[in-house]
Amino acid sequence: MKERGLLIVLSGPSGVGKGTVRKEIFSQTDTKFEYSISVTTRKPREGEVDGIDYFFRTREEFEEMIENKKLLEWAEFVGNYYGTPVDYVEKTLSEGKDVFLEIEVQGAIQVREIFPEGLFIFLAPPSLGELKNRIVTRGTETDDVIANRMKAAKAEIELMDAYDYVVENDTVLHACERIKSIVTAEHCRRERV
Ligand code: 5GP
Repeated sequence: MKERGLLIVLSGPSGVGKGTVRKEIFSQTDTKFEYSISVTTRKPREGEVDGIDYFFRTREEFEEMIENKKLLEWAEFVGNYYGTPVDYVEKTLSEGKDVFLEIEVQGAIQVREIFPEGLFIFLAPPSLGELKNRIVTRGTETDDVIANRMKAAKAEIELMDAYDYVVENDTVLHACERIKSIVTAEHCRRERV
């Protein structure tokens, strides 16, 4: 039987750059993980495409997915639902491929309970001031949303110790490099006989 793949969870506060780091990882041709596209009720931002960035769904459709146990985890974050489709994760892991989730911390806590053997990586900002800077310069959020995201970020940073690794997002390339090295090292550690 084929060895199951590794579930890799990248989490951390909104605005820290998880999306940018994830996109960089998946633009590198030697990356061997599969990205699990999330479902959300958030409206698409400029340039986002359904089925690539997210599966964009209505609240009713999302609640139906919760009801039908189609989600591995889900969370309500700043007024919108976000969740991970369970079938894709299960199928891909059972094919022996590594699956990469990029999710907020409430979701990561749920995944930890279901997959304690997963690899949990926390992407940390160099500082809270720098985090606010990044959310503001993204320019996609209103002042209210920025304030709410900063509040969520402070609470999220306190949960950092529950992760296997903390990677500071000083530069995107450096963070990517360390995340990929962690995954490689983790495979060596687990495959040791
Ligand atoms: P954004 O609206 O900026 O794309 O995402 C907001 C937050 O939701 C980010 O922290 C992002 O990582 C997180 N997120 C994206 N997909 C999921 C998911 O499937 N589950 C959970 N719990 N969080 C998610």
